[in-house]
This record gives sequence, C-alpha cells and structure tokens, in this order.
Amino acid sequence: MKEVSAVPDIKCTVSECHYNEGMRCNAPMIQVERNNTASASTSSHTRCETFKKKA
Ligand code: SF4
Repeated sequence: MKEVSAVPDIKCTVSECHYNEGMRCNAPMIQVERNNTASASTSSHTRCETFKKKA
C-alpha cells in the first residue's frame, strides 16, 4: 500500500538548507521540536530539527 504523507507540501524559505528546493522542503519527512521552551506559544518557539546546512 502506498504511504501517504501527513504533510505533502511544505513551503520553507530556508534556502541554505540541504533539503530546500525552490522554497519547498524536499525531505522525506521533517521533525519539528520546541525551541528552548517547555511549552511553545509562538512559532518562534519551534524549530526544524531536520535542517541540514547545504554542503
Ligand atoms: S528540512 Fe526543515 S529547514 Fe530544511 S527545507 Fe525542510 S522544512 Fe526547511
């Protein structure tokens, strides 16, 4: 059975990321975590753990 992604289309402007292609995320999956807080209340309290600097 074909696996269906929960988030098929991720727009991302972090062009220096290895997975970024034309301002879209091309990673097979991404992991998002809280950013130095026990409880997030704004988007800046979250971060993309999958980010990898372009070589
Ligand atoms: S892995 Fe994260 S930072 Fe990199 S393109 Fe995807 S969403 Fe953006």
